[in-house]
Amino acid sequence: MHVHDSLVELMGNTPLVRLRKVTGGPSKDGGPQVLAKVEYFNPGGSVKDRIAVRMIDAAEESGALKPGGTIVEPTSGNTGVGLAIVAQERGYKCVFVCPDKVAKDKVDVLRAYGAEVVVCPTAVSPEHPDSYYSVSDRLAAEIPGAWKPNQYTNPQNPVSHYETTGPELWEQTEGRITHFVAGIGTGGTISGTGKYLKEVSGGRVKIIGADPEGSVYSGGSGRPYLTEGVGEDIWPETYDRDICDDVIAVSDKDSFLMTRRLAREEALLVGGSCGMAVVAALRVAATAGPDAVIVVLLPDGGRGYLSKIFNDSWMEDYGFLPSSTEEARVDEVL
Ligand code: PMP
Repeated sequence: MHVHDSLVELMGNTPLVRLRKVTGGPSKDGGPQVLAKVEYFNPGGSVKDRIAVRMIDAAEESGALKPGGTIVEPTSGNTGVGLAIVAQERGYKCVFVCPDKVAKDKVDVLRAYGAEVVVCPTAVSPEHPDSYYSVSDRLAAEIPGAWKPNQYTNPQNPVSHYETTGPELWEQTEGRITHFVAGIGTGGTISGTGKYLKEVSGGRVKIIGADPEGSVYSGGSGRPYLTEGVGEDIWPETYDRDICDDVIAVSDKDSFLMTRRLAREEALLVGGSCGMAVVAALRVAATAGPDAVIVVLLPDGGRGYLSKIFNDSWMEDYGFLPSSTEEARVDEVL
């Protein structure tokens, strides 16, 4: 019988799918190819399954996480789901701490997996005892057997991508990959995958970060943006500042319009950071040679964004939904 004993076995090994419509036509022969690494095929629905299992494996090995222990992490989304899946299989409890700006649906998903979720006020400074940083630190100290993975400082975050995402891409493209494009949040994806691809190709593969306009990675000051999961106002330890050959800033509007096009034209119902990364990949393709093989990583699926990016009134409220003439202009720009 072909049976898996656990969903954890199914983490990683996601498919690579050629983009054909948003690129302006099939690009199999002639012209650069743009290939999407579709991470919603992971059992938890996102790229974060990869880091969840690696961080837990390492904590078990080091003894930081003991049988029956509790995982405490400030997370509102994808990382929480990945941690909850691995925790269930291995008998750990999960306590996630989220700011109250997080959509109720996201909190409900974490609770559905059996996690406890503590919601904290957003409108306080990080040093305030009620902030979600302080509360997660306090819970990690108070709960017996608690362990805090901390995806922003945990070296296993980039290591998971060095060991899985990078080798998968090298194998899937038979060593023909020329560019790797990914959004930067903790920086784990781009730093680990980028390091592997640079090493295996002798520095040939170009690594390009995609960043929401306003975030520090593309020279911003941390100004707010709406694209979720990417961009920062601080520099996390998990980001290797030397890894990127270039970082491309993308506006929320361009990211969200491309996210909608991916659903309508490529049947890829994905999140906003995916649209952002594809805009960056198409900018790379515009100046790349005909033999370029550009891989863009799409971190998660689009169901978590139905009331925002895929909702016309929400898009109109922010001035993101263009008239038909504007849509034509966006096509031209890309
Ligand atoms: N997109 C989404 C939706 C994410 O949740 C994340 C993780 N924060 C990223 C992109 C960026 O990945 P990384 O943290 O590895 O840089």
